[in-house]
Parts: sequence; structure tokens; C-alpha cells
Amino acid sequence: MQFKKLKFYFFLFAITVWAGVFFILPDFLIYPTIGFKGTIYRYLHFLLVCIPLFFTLYLLAINKYIFKVLFPAFILLGSLIGYYSFRYKAIFTPMILDATLHNDIRTSLDVVTLELLIFILIQFFLAFFIIKYRNKITIKKTFLHLILASLSLIILFSINGRVTNTFKQHFPGSLYYNFTEYWLLNKEKNTSRLNPDISLRDNCNDSTFIVFVLGESLRADHLSLNGYERKTTPNLDKRENLITLSNIYSEYTYTNPSVAHILTRADEQHYERAKTEKSFISLFNQANYHTVWLANQEASEYYYSFMKECDTIIYSHPEKSVYTYSKWLDEDLLPSFNETIKKPKSCCQLVILHTIGSHWFYNSHFSDEFAQFKPLANSKVVTQNTKQEMINSYDNTILYMDYFVDNLIKAIENKNSILIFLSDHGESLGENGSWLHASSNNKFLHLPASFIWFSKKYLSTHQEAYNNLVENKDKRYRTDFLYHTILSAGNIPTTIINKNLNLFSNKQKLSISKD
Ligand SMILES: [Zn+2]
Repeated sequence: MQFKKLKFYFFLFAITVWAGVFFILPDFLIYPTIGFKGTIYRYLHFLLVCIPLFFTLYLLAINKYIFKVLFPAFILLGSLIGYYSFRYKAIFTPMILDATLHNDIRTSLDVVTLELLIFILIQFFLAFFIIKYRNKITIKKTFLHLILASLSLIILFSINGRVTNTFKQHFPGSLYYNFTEYWLLNKEKNTSRLNPDISLRDNCNDSTFIVFVLGESLRADHLSLNGYERKTTPNLDKRENLITLSNIYSEYTYTNPSVAHILTRADEQHYERAKTEKSFISLFNQANYHTVWLANQEASEYYYSFMKECDTIIYSHPEKSVYTYSKWLDEDLLPSFNETIKKPKSCCQLVILHTIGSHWFYNSHFSDEFAQFKPLANSKVVTQNTKQEMINSYDNTILYMDYFVDNLIKAIENKNSILIFLSDHGESLGENGSWLHASSNNKFLHLPASFIWFSKKYLSTHQEAYNNLVENKDKRYRTDFLYHTILSAGNIPTTIINKNLNLFSNKQKLSISKD
């Protein structure tokens, strides 16, 4: 091939390196791995995500007029994404888009800084010379180039699996992915769902605080509350009027379907209700509760419409996704929680906290003083850690959860309040060689932790409910119990509460058992 023909490819290679370094490499600066092997893994991962970048630039550069128009926009978006990733470890998510479009970015980010403006200016300055250089290259058979570049991108984004997934997390794939995800969320929000009890009316006459903590990947058998040999829940162990439910079964083993199942009237006979009905939040609204969703996880189209049923939604970290490895702590929910509790907008209040809990990468989800079980699992590549290191890091997330939930209780202990905790599913910790969740059929994936705490004031008017709960605490229930029990906890006068699934009722039948 003559040098002239190669010139275009050299040009593409050079601008890919430039864009890769400034717009993608910052994502890989916090990337926990161990040793030389880990470093190789990190840079191979980086090189892999530069492949779609190359073909996107290829597509843009085929026609010089199109390049002149689109390349500056590409640089602007890349600069923003690269800068926020480098400076704040923030990534572009549908939540950022949601917050930006609704002009409501409740984050600690300084959105526009002088440093950012200087960075963008330098990038534009370089882009000016790149466009000038592109003008000097003549390309023949543009149609063939167009087909080659487009086909490559289509193939890259339809491999569907871990590879496509990783492309979607980084620039420029993240642009496409987040806009489509945002569109899906809004489409889901606007689909009409059935209200299971339209006759329900205002019932709020005594100030009541209902707190529901939606846990993440927390399996019941690793809580000292449930007899685990390590003291993983020292604060909760000491709490009075706290009942642990040691035998809950979750149908699903990953977040999205599990959360939708838990929040709705879906049960083992009616799975479809997770897709067709509104959640219990709407019934609380009808009973004149003020409802708040405090999110420390990304929204998903599976449960976004339920979040939107709430009067208020506050994201504590819209700039994080489960593919980021910087610190991402549940205590960042506490300021919004305390503010909500101090200034209730109605005499009755339902607050739902969607926590990041014990999600992998474990070390990101507890602060340094909770690194008590050592050594830690310091590599994001699971196989680089020992079994004991994995369990140590996981158990530290539980110590941290114990601290976090104890702080929630402290904030409401003098009120007429109740706190219900339920994890979305369990976690595999090396059983049959399986780790994390959403993968294999390990019984611990189906055993989420759950417990319920009553304040003294709440107990004084709900002694019977408490006694019944004590009776029921070790029976095998599916997570289906939550819907009926939380409605009962809020004294919601609805006829749809199923007594067999309401843990506060004494007319209990055992829910089906499944191992
Ligand atoms: Zn989950």
C-alpha cells in the first residue's frame, strides 16, 4: 500500500491515541488490581475500549465537511467526560442527564470551573490543527470506508456480553448508551400502571415515620444478628426492639427484577404485577403520607416508575455506576435523610433509602475505619484475591451497614417510627467456586438479610403487631411479605393486605419453602 493511502490510517491512529489518553484513560486511573499481571490486565482493558473510539473517529473523518462540523462537538463531549472522570471520579450516567435536564444537580460537583474551561480551550486548540490536517488528506472510495466503519461499530456493539457492556461504560459508547437508557427510563415512567386500591383515602392522623432501607447483596448468614461468628453487626446487636428475620427467600438474584418484585404486590402466583401495578408508595400517597426516595444507586427502567411515585427523589451519587471503583458510601445519604426527618412535609412520612450496601467492589463501599477484617480483597479481578480476602472485604461492608443503619435509627428513635430493612438478594462467597451475584444457582443468593426495628413510641401503640412479628420471625417467607407488612406498618386502611403475608398479623400460614 502506498504511503498516501496509509496516511489516513496513521492520522486516525494518532487522534485515537490523543482522544484515548484524554477522554478514556482517566476512567482507568482508579482501577484496583494487584501486581504486574493486574497492570497488564488494566491496560489491556483500556486498549480494548479504545477500539470503538477508533472506529467512531474513522466514521467521523471519512468526509472532511462532516468532520469539520461534528469533530468539535465530539471534542467538547469527550473533554467534559474526561475532565469529570479525572477530577471527580464521576462518570456520565442517565441520572446525571436526568438531573441536568431538570436543572436539579444535587451533587457536590462544581459543575463549571476555570480549570475545565482551560482544558476545553486546549482541546479545541489542538482540534483546530487536526481539522486543518484532515483537510489535506484525500479519500477515495468513501462509500467502502463508510460501510467498513459502520459495520465494525455495529458488530462491536452487538457482541452483547461483557465486551459490549464495557464499551457502553466508556466514551464514546457511554454517550449512546446513556441517552438510550434515559429514553427507556422515561418511557417506563410514562406507562400507565394499575392502582390496586383506588378507594383508599387519607388516613394520616398521628405523626408516623416509616423508613424502608432497601439493602444490596446482603446475605442473612453473615450478620452476627443471625449468629455469624464474626461480630459484623455490633450496634444492631445491642438495639432494643429489633427483630431479625433470618429465613427470607428472594425469588431473584439481581437488583432490577428483585426491587420491582419487592415494591409491588407481585408474589409467587402473580409475577406480572411487578410490570402492571403501581407500588405500595402510591397507597401511602393516597393515605396522605409524604413519600421520599433517597437513592444511592442508579435508577433502572425496572423500578424508575416506582421512584417517580414518590413526592421527592434525591440522588446522593448520580455520577456513579457499579463500574466505578472510587469510594461510594451510604453515609452520603444521611444529610438528606436528616433534613427529611427534621422538616416533614406531612404529619406522616415514608422514606425509602436505596443503598449501595454490600455491592462489589466491596472496598469502595466502606470507609477506612471499617476495614477491620484483614487482609482485604484489593483487586477488582476476583481471581486475584484469596477466598479469605473476599470474605474479609465483604464482612467489612456489613460492619459499615451496621454503622449506617444505626445512625438512621438514632435520627428517628424519639419519634413514632419504624424501620424495615430488606436486602434485594444475597451473594455468593465462593460456594461451588461462584462469586458475587446474578450468576449461578447458589442458595445463598436467595437468602437476603432482613430486620425490623420499632421505636418505643411506635411499640407502645403496636404491641400486638410486635408480638406477632416475634412469633413469625424465623418462618420462611418470600420477599413478598414486604408489601403487605409495610402497608400494615403505616396503618394504611386497605383491604388488599394479605394476612398470610403480613408479619404483624397473627393469622399466619407458612409461605412456601424453596431451597
Ligand atoms: Zn442487588
